Amino acid sequence: MKYVIEHPWQIIEEGFHPEDNRLYESLMSLGNGHMGHRGTFEEDYSGDTLQGSYAAGVYYPDKTRVGWWKNGYPEYFAKVLNGTNVIGIHVEIDGHTVDLGKTTPDNFTRVLDMKEGCLIRTFTYKVNNKSFAFNIKRFVSYDQVEIGAVKYEIKALDSSASIKFTPYLDGDVRNEDANYDEFFWENCTEHGDNSVGSISMTTKKTGFTVSAAMKSKMVSHNDTVETPMSFSSKSKYVEHVFETNLESGQSATLYKFFSLVTDRDHLFDTLEAKANKQVDTAYSEGFDALHDAHASKWAEIWKEADIEIDGDVAAQQGIRFNIFHMKQTYNGEDPRLNIGPKGFTGEKYGGSTYWDTEAYCIPFYLSTSREEIPRNLLVYRYNHLEKAIENAAKLGLKGALYPMVTMNGEECHNEWEITFEEIHRNAAIAYGIFNYVRYTGDSDYLIEYGLDVLLNISRFWADRVNYNPYKDCYMMLGVTGPNEYENNVNNNWYSNLMASWTLEYTLEAIEYVKDKDQKAFDKILAKYNFETSEFTTWKSITEKIYLPEIEELNVFAQQDGYMDKEQKLVSELDPSDLPLNQKWSWDRILRSCFIKQADVLQGIFFLSERYDLDTKRRNFDFYEPRTVHESSLSPCVYSIIAGEIGYHNKAYELYQRSARLDLDNYNNDTDDGLHITSMAGTWMSVVYGFGGFSTADGKPKFNPFLPENWNGLNFHMLFRDRLLVVSIDKNTVKIDMVSGEPLNIEVYGNTYDLSVETSVNVPTDHTRAID
Ligand code: BGC
Repeated sequence: MKYVIEHPWQIIEEGFHPEDNRLYESLMSLGNGHMGHRGTFEEDYSGDTLQGSYAAGVYYPDKTRVGWWKNGYPEYFAKVLNGTNVIGIHVEIDGHTVDLGKTTPDNFTRVLDMKEGCLIRTFTYKVNNKSFAFNIKRFVSYDQVEIGAVKYEIKALDSSASIKFTPYLDGDVRNEDANYDEFFWENCTEHGDNSVGSISMTTKKTGFTVSAAMKSKMVSHNDTVETPMSFSSKSKYVEHVFETNLESGQSATLYKFFSLVTDRDHLFDTLEAKANKQVDTAYSEGFDALHDAHASKWAEIWKEADIEIDGDVAAQQGIRFNIFHMKQTYNGEDPRLNIGPKGFTGEKYGGSTYWDTEAYCIPFYLSTSREEIPRNLLVYRYNHLEKAIENAAKLGLKGALYPMVTMNGEECHNEWEITFEEIHRNAAIAYGIFNYVRYTGDSDYLIEYGLDVLLNISRFWADRVNYNPYKDCYMMLGVTGPNEYENNVNNNWYSNLMASWTLEYTLEAIEYVKDKDQKAFDKILAKYNFETSEFTTWKSITEKIYLPEIEELNVFAQQDGYMDKEQKLVSELDPSDLPLNQKWSWDRILRSCFIKQADVLQGIFFLSERYDLDTKRRNFDFYEPRTVHESSLSPCVYSIIAGEIGYHNKAYELYQRSARLDLDNYNNDTDDGLHITSMAGTWMSVVYGFGGFSTADGKPKFNPFLPENWNGLNFHMLFRDRLLVVSIDKNTVKIDMVSGEPLNIEVYGNTYDLSVETSVNVPTDHTRAID
């Protein structure tokens, strides 16, 4: 079903759809890395809504809820916290409360403008047969991340009326997903006067204090009213009141400025003053100036990260939607933060960090931002190393086991099959380091931070595998691979492969650091009591790791026993059985051969250079028809491999599923929030998939193709301080360097010199498609 109007820069809801209101609220969420909120209405709304306002890094450790407690479970499940509603404005016309849940508006549009990062609503609304035109715009500033603003305009179309605006801050908010229906905040204080209103609240247990402040003015017809008629407050709530009378044809506009500051960034004692100061500054700068500064930040982002698709508006809208939400969720300035799978768009999923960050998001930030930003994501894990070592010890293992889900380095996920068994996440963290070093050439990262992490992850793998003397190989038992539709399996091919790869890469990193800085190397070894004999064992594990195969088919086996299952294809399923995770019992899913997400293919994607095209094709042909793609992380990986092996139509089909996953609500869960981390995967399916991008030896390589129904594709990417634009059309692949030093690149296997003066032009290769 199509929920939004197709448009290259906008997400448009045309006509009001109360039954899908939560879905639109998710799609139209706004954020700037520091704070964000769902695309809810400013005025009262009695219909179904999920009011959500979030401050990055502020969370609550909700007490774990499980039926059967298992030793090793974490005590809590971290919740992204719903905080003070900063956007609210209660609106009355002739004493009637404006509420789209009670009176259906006409000509309703809700528009997310991705070019400038604004949410805009327009509609007409009737009160006692009088008509009013509403025009509302808001943003959270990308330029000054602690502030945001709303412009709320009402025009009397055909008669006179009294208008009352009551901008407010409301701290009486809850998380819908609270395990015990608890209110997560305490020590709420409200202050204000006829200028500024503010609320400060502290989270229970974690003790984060967040202060919000607001200041508003009204322009009625031609008069500017800077002082509200009144200020009042009650527990967890403050409000200002502005009133005016309009004649037919006149309008009244309320400008509400708000700020949100936390003691993560400022001293506790100064918080309220800081919030007030921020909102005062915003107020004096004014809506238009703030808006312009914000929009120019977005213009800078688009300059470095845009993807343009010619000839397919739906695809164009999809890819910009993904880039936009990635950039809204994480701005990379703060190494204490990470990328939650729902960003600022909903509550579902505790914690902010999954393996998604290293496996999916780091490639996106590597190519679309300054190098410090992906580096910050890696340093985040370095800072959690001690906790990862404690985490492994809790499970009786040596080395470091990073959590499956975390806020502060502690595990906060409690399903045994994931917490204890989905340990492949450790390998993704090692892979993130490898990927960063390969892309940026910053090998010294290994000396400063990387080797500490790699050594401890490797020590974990060496302890977690066991030697099987009968088969003379190392095995890994009782794991969950990326495919979460199988648990407690033995020898998941992907986990074994990536564990062994981590050991290999760590051994290489050891050599690099030892050569470059023996002193630093000795210090790292001493810090964690490493003996070089450990490295000898690691070497033998890499030589004797067991990687299961299905010999008759010459493909890798997802795990031991996979072929014991009844072999069926997704195409044989009754469509009404999909999605399986909503239609089938869990045990039926576990017994079936159906695969949730890329697993063997994830390994082939990561270690792509190891496998030739035939191997990739055979494994794709076997696994794709068995994969239901019920994780949003799945279609993009398959799409990239499909492109490489010449299945160009299939690559496009999978890309569409990934790019418009939320816009078209494929998994029927967009109302809970968006699938933020998979958006990075969608970006990869354009740049790595259609663009055929890879890199080795400091050289970007491209093997592009253009989906059949596109006229052209171009993407911007940063590579080692250069900005490149890759343009592909039916006839030519053109690579321009917008800025930076000359560079050697490869297109279809041939090497070219690229510089700002000399672009590279190569005929598009059409010979590789085989579908
Ligand atoms: C996927 C995981 C992923 C998590 C968060 C799950 O559905 O199976 O691989 O880490 O979502 O995105």
